[in-house]
Amino acid sequence: MKPYTISFFVLLFALQASAQHKLPNVVILATGGTIAGAGESSVGTAYTAGKLPIDALLNALPEARKIANLTGEQVASVGSQAMHDSIWLKLAKRINELAAKPEVDGIVVTHGTDTEGETGFFLQLTVKTAKPVVLVGAMRSATAISADGPMNLYNGIAAAASKRSENRGVLVCMNDQLFSAREVTKTNTTNVATFQSPNTGPLGTVFDGKVEYYHSILRKHTIQTEFDISQVNSLPKVDILYGYANMNPVLLEAVVNDKAQGVVIAGVGNGNLYPTVEKRVKEITRKGVVVVRSSRTGSGRVTLNSETDDAALGTIVADDLNPQKARILLQLALLKTKDTKKIQEMFFTY
Ligand code: ASP
Repeated sequence: MKPYTISFFVLLFALQASAQHKLPNVVILATGGTIAGAGESSVGTAYTAGKLPIDALLNALPEARKIANLTGEQVASVGSQAMHDSIWLKLAKRINELAAKPEVDGIVVTHGTDTEGETGFFLQLTVKTAKPVVLVGAMRSATAISADGPMNLYNGIAAAASKRSENRGVLVCMNDQLFSAREVTKTNTTNVATFQSPNTGPLGTVFDGKVEYYHSILRKHTIQTEFDISQVNSLPKVDILYGYANMNPVLLEAVVNDKAQGVVIAGVGNGNLYPTVEKRVKEITRKGVVVVRSSRTGSGRVTLNSETDDAALGTIVADDLNPQKARILLQLALLKTKDTKKIQEMFFTY
Protein backbone atom coordinates (compact mmCIF):
# COMPACT_ATOMS: atom_id res chain seq x y z
CA MET A 1 0.00 0.00 0.00
CA LYS A 2 1.31 3.45 -0.90
CA PRO A 3 2.15 5.75 2.06
CA TYR A 4 -0.52 8.33 1.12
CA THR A 5 -3.17 5.56 1.02
CA ILE A 6 -2.17 4.54 4.54
CA SER A 7 -2.30 8.15 5.78
CA PHE A 8 -5.75 8.52 4.20
CA PHE A 9 -7.05 5.54 6.23
CA VAL A 10 -5.39 6.80 9.40
CA LEU A 11 -7.06 10.18 8.88
CA LEU A 12 -10.44 8.53 8.23
CA PHE A 13 -10.11 6.45 11.38
CA ALA A 14 -9.13 9.53 13.42
CA LEU A 15 -12.10 11.50 12.07
CA GLN A 16 -14.51 8.69 12.89
CA ALA A 17 -13.06 8.29 16.37
CA SER A 18 -13.31 12.01 17.09
CA ALA A 19 -16.92 12.16 15.78
CA GLN A 20 -17.81 9.30 18.14
CA HIS A 21 -15.97 11.03 20.95
CA LYS A 22 -18.06 14.17 20.46
CA LEU A 23 -21.38 12.32 20.60
CA PRO A 24 -23.22 12.68 23.94
CA ASN A 25 -22.98 9.69 26.28
CA VAL A 26 -26.39 8.28 27.12
CA VAL A 27 -27.01 5.38 29.52
CA ILE A 28 -30.12 3.25 29.02
CA LEU A 29 -31.58 1.66 32.16
CA ALA A 30 -33.99 -1.11 31.24
CA THR A 31 -36.84 -2.27 33.46
CA GLY A 32 -38.92 -4.45 31.09
CA GLY A 33 -42.38 -3.66 29.74
CA THR A 34 -43.96 -4.11 26.33
CA ILE A 35 -41.07 -2.25 24.71
CA ALA A 36 -39.06 -5.37 25.58
CA GLY A 37 -42.02 -7.68 24.96
CA ALA A 38 -42.15 -10.57 22.51
CA GLY A 39 -45.11 -12.59 21.25
CA GLU A 40 -45.83 -15.59 19.02
CA SER A 41 -47.81 -13.57 16.49
CA SER A 42 -46.99 -10.19 14.94
CA VAL A 43 -50.68 -9.24 14.78
CA GLY A 44 -52.14 -10.64 18.02
CA THR A 45 -52.22 -8.81 21.33
CA ALA A 46 -50.82 -11.77 23.31
CA TYR A 47 -47.17 -11.34 24.31
CA THR A 48 -44.93 -11.43 27.34
CA ALA A 49 -43.62 -8.09 28.62
CA GLY A 50 -39.96 -7.66 29.56
CA LYS A 51 -38.63 -10.68 27.63
CA LEU A 52 -35.89 -9.03 25.58
CA PRO A 53 -32.74 -7.72 27.27
CA ILE A 54 -31.56 -4.16 26.67
CA ASP A 55 -28.74 -5.30 24.35
CA ALA A 56 -31.31 -6.86 21.99
CA LEU A 57 -33.30 -3.60 21.90
CA LEU A 58 -30.19 -1.54 21.16
CA ASN A 59 -28.86 -3.99 18.55
CA ALA A 60 -32.15 -3.62 16.72
CA LEU A 61 -31.64 0.15 16.62
CA PRO A 62 -28.26 0.88 14.98
CA GLU A 63 -29.49 4.38 14.02
CA ALA A 64 -29.35 5.39 17.69
CA ARG A 65 -25.57 4.89 17.82
CA LYS A 66 -25.25 7.72 15.30
CA ILE A 67 -26.75 10.25 17.72
CA ALA A 68 -25.23 9.09 21.03
CA ASN A 69 -22.68 6.75 22.56
CA LEU A 70 -24.87 4.19 24.28
CA THR A 71 -24.44 1.82 27.16
CA GLY A 72 -27.23 -0.33 28.56
CA GLU A 73 -27.95 -1.76 32.01
CA GLN A 74 -30.73 -4.11 33.02
CA VAL A 75 -32.22 -2.83 36.29
CA ALA A 76 -35.30 -5.10 36.22
CA SER A 77 -37.29 -7.22 33.75
CA VAL A 78 -40.93 -6.80 34.70
CA GLY A 79 -44.22 -5.87 33.16
CA SER A 80 -44.83 -2.53 34.87
CA GLN A 81 -48.01 -3.84 36.50
CA ALA A 82 -45.45 -5.58 38.74
CA MET A 83 -43.52 -2.38 39.49
CA HIS A 84 -42.81 -1.84 43.20
CA ASP A 85 -41.08 0.44 45.66
CA SER A 86 -37.78 -1.40 45.72
CA ILE A 87 -37.32 -1.11 41.94
CA TRP A 88 -38.17 2.61 42.20
CA LEU A 89 -35.53 3.07 44.90
CA LYS A 90 -32.93 1.03 42.99
CA LEU A 91 -33.62 3.03 39.83
CA ALA A 92 -33.47 6.43 41.51
CA LYS A 93 -30.21 5.53 43.30
CA ARG A 94 -28.62 4.26 40.09
CA ILE A 95 -29.69 7.40 38.20
CA ASN A 96 -28.18 9.56 40.94
CA GLU A 97 -24.89 7.62 40.71
CA LEU A 98 -24.75 7.83 36.93
CA ALA A 99 -25.80 11.47 36.71
CA ALA A 100 -22.99 12.42 39.11
CA LYS A 101 -20.42 11.18 36.57
CA PRO A 102 -19.16 14.03 34.41
CA GLU A 103 -18.97 11.79 31.34
CA VAL A 104 -22.70 10.91 31.45
CA ASP A 105 -24.83 13.39 29.50
CA GLY A 106 -28.27 11.84 29.76
CA ILE A 107 -30.23 8.83 30.95
CA VAL A 108 -33.07 6.89 29.33
CA VAL A 109 -35.28 4.47 31.25
CA THR A 110 -37.19 1.84 29.28
CA HIS A 111 -40.41 0.98 31.09
CA GLY A 112 -43.80 -0.66 30.71
CA THR A 113 -46.54 1.84 29.99
CA ASP A 114 -49.02 0.76 32.69
CA THR A 115 -47.18 2.54 35.49
CA GLU A 116 -44.70 4.63 33.47
CA GLY A 117 -46.25 7.88 34.71
CA GLU A 118 -45.92 6.78 38.33
CA THR A 119 -42.27 5.77 38.05
CA GLY A 120 -41.61 9.01 36.19
CA PHE A 121 -43.14 11.09 38.99
CA PHE A 122 -41.23 9.15 41.67
CA LEU A 123 -38.00 9.90 39.81
CA GLN A 124 -39.07 13.51 39.24
CA LEU A 125 -39.16 13.93 43.03
CA THR A 126 -36.08 11.90 43.94
CA VAL A 127 -33.35 12.18 41.31
CA LYS A 128 -30.81 14.89 42.00
CA THR A 129 -29.70 16.05 38.61
CA ALA A 130 -30.40 18.70 36.01
CA LYS A 131 -29.26 16.29 33.28
CA PRO A 132 -31.97 14.83 31.07
CA VAL A 133 -33.76 11.74 32.39
CA VAL A 134 -36.27 10.38 29.87
CA LEU A 135 -38.66 7.44 30.21
CA VAL A 136 -39.79 5.55 27.12
CA GLY A 137 -42.13 2.63 26.54
CA ALA A 138 -44.22 1.04 23.84
CA MET A 139 -47.79 0.01 23.33
CA ARG A 140 -46.91 -2.69 20.80
CA SER A 141 -44.43 -5.44 21.58
CA ALA A 142 -41.06 -5.57 19.81
CA THR A 143 -42.30 -8.44 17.60
CA ALA A 144 -45.59 -6.76 16.55
CA ILE A 145 -46.23 -5.20 13.14
CA SER A 146 -45.61 -1.47 13.34
CA ALA A 147 -44.01 -1.74 16.76
CA ASP A 148 -43.79 1.73 18.31
CA GLY A 149 -40.91 0.87 20.68
CA PRO A 150 -37.93 1.48 18.35
CA MET A 151 -39.07 5.00 17.39
CA ASN A 152 -39.97 5.85 21.00
CA LEU A 153 -36.53 4.63 22.11
CA TYR A 154 -34.77 6.52 19.31
CA ASN A 155 -36.66 9.71 20.15
CA GLY A 156 -36.07 9.21 23.87
CA ILE A 157 -32.32 8.85 23.23
CA ALA A 158 -32.40 12.01 21.09
CA ALA A 159 -34.16 13.85 23.93
CA ALA A 160 -31.71 12.56 26.55
CA ALA A 161 -28.78 13.52 24.32
CA SER A 162 -30.04 17.08 23.87
CA LYS A 163 -28.85 20.00 26.03
CA ARG A 164 -32.33 21.42 25.49
CA SER A 165 -33.73 18.75 27.80
CA GLU A 166 -31.67 19.88 30.81
CA ASN A 167 -33.46 21.38 33.84
CA ARG A 168 -36.87 20.18 32.70
CA GLY A 169 -37.43 17.53 35.33
CA VAL A 170 -38.02 13.92 34.36
CA LEU A 171 -39.55 13.50 30.91
CA VAL A 172 -41.68 10.83 29.27
CA CYS A 173 -41.18 10.42 25.52
CA MET A 174 -43.96 8.58 23.70
CA ASN A 175 -45.52 8.83 20.25
CA ASP A 176 -43.29 11.77 19.15
CA GLN A 177 -44.22 13.84 22.21
CA LEU A 178 -42.36 14.90 25.33
CA PHE A 179 -44.31 15.12 28.57
CA SER A 180 -43.47 16.16 32.09
CA ALA A 181 -43.46 13.09 34.33
CA ARG A 182 -45.58 15.08 36.81
CA GLU A 183 -48.36 15.65 34.34
CA VAL A 184 -48.47 12.59 32.12
CA THR A 185 -50.79 9.63 32.45
CA LYS A 186 -51.86 6.64 30.40
CA THR A 187 -55.37 7.34 29.12
CA ASN A 188 -56.16 4.46 26.77
CA THR A 189 -55.72 0.70 27.20
CA THR A 190 -54.27 -0.08 23.75
CA ASN A 191 -53.86 3.04 21.58
CA VAL A 192 -50.32 4.24 20.76
CA ALA A 193 -51.46 7.81 21.53
CA THR A 194 -52.35 6.74 25.06
CA PHE A 195 -50.05 9.17 26.91
CA GLN A 196 -51.58 12.54 27.63
CA SER A 197 -51.16 15.36 30.12
CA PRO A 198 -54.83 16.25 30.67
CA ASN A 199 -54.20 19.44 32.67
CA THR A 200 -51.28 20.95 30.79
CA GLY A 201 -50.59 19.22 27.48
CA PRO A 202 -47.15 18.05 26.33
CA LEU A 203 -43.96 20.06 26.88
CA GLY A 204 -42.61 19.46 23.42
CA THR A 205 -42.05 17.11 20.52
CA VAL A 206 -39.35 14.88 19.10
CA PHE A 207 -39.64 14.30 15.41
CA ASP A 208 -36.98 12.53 13.32
CA GLY A 209 -34.76 12.83 16.39
CA LYS A 210 -35.17 16.65 16.53
CA VAL A 211 -36.15 17.93 19.94
CA GLU A 212 -38.35 21.00 20.37
CA TYR A 213 -39.87 22.41 23.58
CA TYR A 214 -42.84 24.76 23.88
CA HIS A 215 -43.49 24.79 27.64
CA SER A 216 -41.67 24.30 30.94
CA ILE A 217 -42.73 22.78 34.22
CA LEU A 218 -43.01 25.33 37.04
CA ARG A 219 -43.56 22.98 39.98
CA LYS A 220 -40.35 22.11 41.85
CA HIS A 221 -38.58 18.94 40.79
CA THR A 222 -35.32 16.92 40.92
CA ILE A 223 -32.56 19.08 42.49
CA GLN A 224 -35.16 21.48 43.92
CA THR A 225 -36.99 18.90 46.06
CA GLU A 226 -36.50 18.10 49.75
CA PHE A 227 -36.63 14.32 49.20
CA ASP A 228 -33.42 12.35 49.71
CA ILE A 229 -33.77 8.61 49.17
CA SER A 230 -30.07 7.79 49.39
CA GLN A 231 -30.52 5.98 52.74
CA VAL A 232 -34.12 4.84 52.21
CA ASN A 233 -34.84 1.12 51.67
CA SER A 234 -38.63 1.04 51.77
CA LEU A 235 -41.50 3.49 51.44
CA PRO A 236 -44.40 4.11 53.84
CA LYS A 237 -47.55 2.15 53.08
CA VAL A 238 -50.15 4.26 51.31
CA ASP A 239 -53.24 2.86 49.59
CA ILE A 240 -55.75 4.26 47.13
CA LEU A 241 -59.51 3.86 47.39
CA TYR A 242 -61.86 4.56 44.49
CA GLY A 243 -64.93 6.67 45.27
CA TYR A 244 -68.40 5.91 43.91
CA ALA A 245 -72.08 6.48 44.69
CA ASN A 246 -72.95 4.66 47.90
CA MET A 247 -69.28 3.89 48.63
CA ASN A 248 -68.65 1.28 51.30
CA PRO A 249 -66.80 2.77 54.32
CA VAL A 250 -65.57 -0.70 55.28
CA LEU A 251 -62.87 -0.30 52.59
CA LEU A 252 -61.24 2.36 54.78
CA GLU A 253 -61.27 -0.09 57.67
CA ALA A 254 -59.47 -2.66 55.55
CA VAL A 255 -56.57 -0.41 54.57
CA VAL A 256 -56.19 1.05 58.05
CA ASN A 257 -56.19 -2.45 59.60
CA ASP A 258 -53.51 -3.34 57.07
CA LYS A 259 -51.38 -0.55 58.62
CA ALA A 260 -51.59 2.06 55.90
CA GLN A 261 -50.03 5.29 57.13
CA GLY A 262 -51.84 7.19 54.43
CA VAL A 263 -54.85 6.83 52.16
CA VAL A 264 -55.60 8.59 48.91
CA ILE A 265 -59.26 8.63 47.98
CA ALA A 266 -60.12 9.08 44.31
CA GLY A 267 -63.26 10.96 45.26
CA VAL A 268 -66.16 11.89 42.99
CA GLY A 269 -66.09 15.30 41.26
CA ASN A 270 -63.98 17.75 43.24
CA GLY A 271 -62.72 14.89 45.42
CA ASN A 272 -66.02 14.56 47.30
CA LEU A 273 -66.77 11.65 49.61
CA TYR A 274 -69.88 9.63 50.39
CA PRO A 275 -71.33 10.77 53.78
CA THR A 276 -70.59 7.54 55.70
CA VAL A 277 -67.06 7.56 54.25
CA GLU A 278 -66.62 11.19 55.41
CA LYS A 279 -67.59 10.12 58.91
CA ARG A 280 -64.97 7.33 58.94
CA VAL A 281 -62.35 9.62 57.40
CA LYS A 282 -62.82 12.09 60.26
CA GLU A 283 -62.23 9.28 62.76
CA ILE A 284 -59.09 7.92 61.10
CA THR A 285 -57.42 11.29 60.54
CA ARG A 286 -57.81 11.89 64.30
CA LYS A 287 -55.89 8.65 64.84
CA GLY A 288 -53.02 9.97 62.67
CA VAL A 289 -53.73 8.37 59.30
CA VAL A 290 -53.12 10.96 56.59
CA VAL A 291 -55.98 11.14 54.09
CA VAL A 292 -55.59 12.90 50.75
CA ARG A 293 -58.58 13.77 48.57
CA SER A 294 -57.90 13.35 44.85
CA SER A 295 -60.44 12.85 42.09
CA ARG A 296 -61.60 10.07 39.84
CA THR A 297 -62.50 12.55 37.06
CA GLY A 298 -59.12 12.39 35.34
CA SER A 299 -58.40 16.11 35.20
CA GLY A 300 -58.65 19.33 37.18
CA ARG A 301 -57.76 20.37 40.70
CA VAL A 302 -59.25 19.23 43.95
CA THR A 303 -59.73 22.43 45.89
CA LEU A 304 -59.28 22.89 49.61
CA ASN A 305 -62.33 23.49 51.85
CA SER A 306 -64.78 23.74 48.98
CA GLU A 307 -67.79 21.42 48.98
CA THR A 308 -65.87 19.20 51.36
CA ASP A 309 -64.77 20.72 54.65
CA ASP A 310 -61.12 19.63 54.89
CA ALA A 311 -60.57 21.62 58.06
CA ALA A 312 -63.31 19.60 59.80
CA LEU A 313 -62.27 16.24 58.33
CA GLY A 314 -58.53 16.67 58.80
CA THR A 315 -57.95 15.90 55.12
CA ILE A 316 -55.45 17.19 52.57
CA VAL A 317 -56.12 17.91 48.90
CA ALA A 318 -54.05 16.48 46.03
CA ASP A 319 -54.33 19.70 44.01
CA ASP A 320 -54.19 18.48 40.37
CA LEU A 321 -52.28 15.23 40.96
CA ASN A 322 -54.18 12.14 39.95
CA PRO A 323 -54.66 9.51 42.70
CA GLN A 324 -51.64 7.36 41.76
CA LYS A 325 -49.32 10.39 41.68
CA ALA A 326 -50.80 11.75 44.90
CA ARG A 327 -49.94 8.39 46.47
CA ILE A 328 -46.27 8.75 45.49
CA LEU A 329 -45.98 12.27 46.87
CA LEU A 330 -47.70 11.15 50.09
CA GLN A 331 -45.27 8.21 50.46
CA LEU A 332 -42.30 10.56 50.12
CA ALA A 333 -43.89 13.17 52.38
CA LEU A 334 -44.48 10.57 55.10
CA LEU A 335 -40.75 9.81 55.11
CA LYS A 336 -40.30 13.32 56.46
CA THR A 337 -43.36 14.25 58.50
CA LYS A 338 -46.89 13.40 59.63
CA ASP A 339 -47.80 17.06 60.00
CA THR A 340 -50.76 17.56 57.67
CA LYS A 341 -50.11 21.30 57.25
CA LYS A 342 -46.58 20.58 56.00
CA ILE A 343 -47.79 17.76 53.78
CA GLN A 344 -50.47 20.02 52.29
CA GLU A 345 -47.76 22.56 51.50
CA MET A 346 -45.83 19.85 49.65
CA PHE A 347 -48.90 19.18 47.50
CA PHE A 348 -48.91 22.85 46.51
CA THR A 349 -45.13 22.83 45.84
CA TYR A 350 -44.38 19.68 43.79
N1 ASP B 1 -48.37 -4.31 30.83
C1 ASP B 1 -47.31 -3.70 30.07
C2 ASP B 1 -46.38 -3.02 31.05
O1 ASP B 1 -46.76 -2.03 31.63
C3 ASP B 1 -47.89 -2.73 29.09
C4 ASP B 1 -46.91 -1.90 28.31
O2 ASP B 1 -45.74 -1.84 28.57
O3 ASP B 1 -47.37 -1.22 27.37
O4 ASP B 1 -45.30 -3.47 31.23
